[in-house]
Parts: sequence; C-alpha cells; structure tokens
Amino acid sequence: MNEPTGAGARLRKDSRIGIIGGGCGGVHLAHLLKQRGFAHVTVLEREHRIGGKACSPIHRGFPHEMGACYIPPHYSEFIRLMARYGVGRLTAPKVYERSVFTTALGGGLREHHLASFVQGTYDALARVDKMPRGGNLMRLLALLGAIRRYHRLRRRLLGQGYHPLARRPSTAAMAELALPFMDMVERHRLHAMLPYFWLASSGQGYGVLETIPTLYALLWNQPALVSAFVLTRLGLSRRPVVQMVDVGTQTLFERIVEEDGLDVRLGVTVRSVARPASGPVTVTAETPEGPAEFVFDDIVVATDFRASLQFLGPDANETELFQAQTASTFVTNLIETPRWAAGALKAYVIDALTPGATFSVAGVRDIHFSWPDAQSDRCAAVAYQYVDRPPDAALLADLDARLRPEMARLGFADVTLVQRRQWSYFPRFTADGVARGLPWEVFERQGRNRTWYAGSSACFESLNDVMNYNLLLMQTFAEA
Ligand SMILES: Cc1cc2nc3c(=O)[nH]c(=O)nc-3n(C[C@H](O)[C@H](O)[C@H](O)COP(=O)(O)OP(=O)(O)OC[C@H]3O[C@@H](n4cnc5c(N)ncnc54)[C@H](O)[C@@H]3O)c2cc1C
Repeated sequence: MNEPTGAGARLRKDSRIGIIGGGCGGVHLAHLLKQRGFAHVTVLEREHRIGGKACSPIHRGFPHEMGACYIPPHYSEFIRLMARYGVGRLTAPKVYERSVFTTALGGGLREHHLASFVQGTYDALARVDKMPRGGNLMRLLALLGAIRRYHRLRRRLLGQGYHPLARRPSTAAMAELALPFMDMVERHRLHAMLPYFWLASSGQGYGVLETIPTLYALLWNQPALVSAFVLTRLGLSRRPVVQMVDVGTQTLFERIVEEDGLDVRLGVTVRSVARPASGPVTVTAETPEGPAEFVFDDIVVATDFRASLQFLGPDANETELFQAQTASTFVTNLIETPRWAAGALKAYVIDALTPGATFSVAGVRDIHFSWPDAQSDRCAAVAYQYVDRPPDAALLADLDARLRPEMARLGFADVTLVQRRQWSYFPRFTADGVARGLPWEVFERQGRNRTWYAGSSACFESLNDVMNYNLLLMQTFAEA
C-alpha cells in the first residue's frame, strides 16, 4: 500500500472548523467530522438549500434531477448513507429493454439498442475503422482482451490500493497521464472499449476522449464500474448499473443535516477570507441578516477552486493551482412536452460529447425513464446540454437559443421550459497541470495555512469521488 503524503498538519477535535460550501463535499465532510466527535463544525452555504450539484426540485409531485442522478453499485459510501438515514430506494430505469441512445456522428441521427451492447454499438466503431472482424464471438474476445489491457494500464499508472491522488506518481507516469486518452486507446489497442468509453465516460460529461487527459478517464473508469457495466451489457449480470434515488439525490444531504443536527447556515455567501500568519481565520460573508464575520481555527474550501479565487485571498501557490483548472458547461433544462414523440430520443446523443459536435443536447430523460404509454398528460423531463469548455455569458445565450431547435430534431415538439440550471462542471487540471503534478499537489498542500480542500475540484466530479476523498482526508488528517 502506498503511504499517503501530506503537509503534516492535523484536524484537531477542539478546532473551530468552517466549511465553505454546503454541497455533497461540504455536508458529507461535516457529517464525518461530527461522527468522529468534532463538536465545532459550521457549514456556510450560499444558496437557500443544501446539496449544491445534488439538486432535485419537485415539479408536479416528482423530483427531477437537475444535477447528480446516477448511483452505480460501487458507490458504497452513498448507498451506506441512504440505508443509514432511510432515504428512498434506488430504482433502475427501464432503459435497458428499449432503444435509448442515439449517435449523431457525422450528422445523421441513428438509434442504438443498449441491450445489444456487443453487436449494436460496434456500428459506431466503423467510424474509426477498428471494428473487429468476424462474428460476435470474435468481438467479445476483442472486448475482453481490451479490458484486460485497460486494467493493466490503470494499475501501472495509478497503482492499487490507496487513493490515486494521495501519492504523486513518477514523472514518467505523470507525462503519460497527461496525454489525451485517445492516444492511450491507440497505444494499448483499447478500441473495442470505445462504445463503453463513449457511454460511461464521455456520456457522463467526463470529457471528449480526443482531448481529456488520461488521468481523468482512468480515475472515473474504475475496475468496478467497467466490470459492472460490461457484465450487465453482456447479459452476465442482472444488477443494474444505472440507478437513481427515487426521492431525489438532494434528499440524502438534507436528511443528513437534519438528523445529525449539523450547523449549516443557508443563504450565506462568503466574500473574503483573512488568514493571518498567526491567530484565527476570519471569514466575511453576506447573510440574510446582512454582512457578518465568522471566526475559525481551520477552514475547508469545498467550493469550485476557480470560483474560490474570488474570496479566498489565495497565496501565490493557490493562485497557480486554481488558475490551472478548467471546466465544462452542463445546462440542465426541466422541460415539459405534450408527449414523448414516437422514436424521440430518450437518453444520450453521443455527438454532443465528441470533437466537432453538432448537437449541444447530450441527453433527455425523466426520473423514471418512463415512456409515452406510462404518462397520459404532459411529460416532464430533463434535457442536458453539454459543451466541453467553461461557461460564459455568450456560451449560455447560445445554448439557450439552440435548445428548442435541437429538441425538435430529436423528436420533441412544443417544448416548454420550466426551469434551468447552469453548472460549471467537471473541474479539472489541464494536460500541462497534470504533467506538472498539480492534481497531487492539492493533497500535499492539505492543512497548510489552516486551509483544507474538499469537493470535486480537489478530486473528481462525482458523488463517489467526493465522498471517497473525504474519507481519505479523515483517515489521513483527522484526530482519532
Ligand atoms: C448536471 C450534473 C449531473 C451530474 N450527474 C452525476 C451523476 O449522475 N453521478 C454522480 O456521481 N455525480 C454527478 N454529478 C456530479 C456531482 O453532483 C458532483 O460531483 C458533486 O455534487 C460535487 O459536490 P461538491 O460539494 O464538490 O460541489 P457542489 O455540489 O458544487 O458544492 C459547492 C457548494 O458551494 C457553494 N458555494 C459556492 N461559492 C460559495 C460562496 N462564496 N459562499 C458559500 N457557498 C458557496 C455552492 O452554492 C454549492 O452548494 C453531476 C453534476 C451535474 C452538475
């Protein structure tokens, strides 16, 4: 097992800890600290609700996921907490039995059947002229061979056992981890896994394979996820990979705050932080009652790193670290449509997640993945728009203008927009930052200047990664 590195600082039980950001990262860390006996933990959250990117507004009696939605079976901490706090059930959508994803590669829309993963999705491989010859048996063998090579590659570059971001790999490994993942697909002959990577990796907004640094493809595509996905697709496992919380993901975080009695201050926007060389840290914030100051011994930055440049008063090292991150744009549109048109797309438009995308709409689904015959009245659903660069005003206006025409092309006429959320999504280091070791530097900096880093900017954009990183922080730095 790798030994964790760290700045040598500790989180002490008598410390007054201020967590900035009441999303999954901040609330889960506050929960873990409380369980460990830390008595002075306060979470400051800008919005008037808990959950951040776990965002499940209720519309016409049903929760709709405007943020995090899928809970695969390897999300052990999330699933453990659902059971412990008695929050809803995981439901598996019916998508597997139906034709649900569309490729628009080269402009022409084409539907594919998820259920026939091996046969159907190989059509898409014709594009890269790497389709294994022969029948399904040959294709299956090609797929299994590629999976073996993939696991070997991941083990070599990220190691096994300890958290991949807890210990800096060799300079040579970091150089490989900075390469575009498609280079690794070529070098290690992983083409047979491309349909998997398009759906399970790009399909979740985790970057275009041609440009995303290999580190991020490897972080997300853990052996447990690859196995679960492929075994299910091959019909060798009946355990669903795609599951959703029937009462909405946000509910878990609300329940934790309520039942743990966590001190979460809502509607509190942190404006500045003063971290003098000695003495406590002072956080200045706008609150519903007006400006206020909070005094802490330690603070946890559980917000987007780039956004935190605005209030943290970062030192030179933090500035370099945070500015080296980039992000994508996810816009989630809660829409209503009179009915699901026959043949309307239900899940992914892979085109939006490839270079030279012609679509911004990357997927459409409702909480139950229900179908025309399941709903008689107006259908409500969430339409995702994705672009592989950070949001700005011009981009958001463009996405706004493209929503209805694109939805019409996908078979959804007469769309009414009920509400919209715009997210800066998947914060990550650029290839240059990965080559320079910045993803590991975050962990090495933990506790310096009485500042700790949690949430997706510190690790990876998923509930599971954010929670596992919190567990790592507790295991490494928190007083027992
Ligand atoms: C559309 C979408 C779909 C997703 N789908 C999935 C999925 O299917 N499965 C999955 O595992 N993950 C998914 N994710 C990712 C997952 O939601 C995130 O990785 C996770 O919620 C990140 O938690 P966080 O605490 O790091 O950040 P956030 O949830 O963004 O929390 C940060 C919090 O900080 C607050 N904040 C910011 N600035 C300030 C300030 N100045 N003062 C006070 N508070 C501030 C924000 O309001 C926010 O609540 C999805 C995300 C999105 C957007």
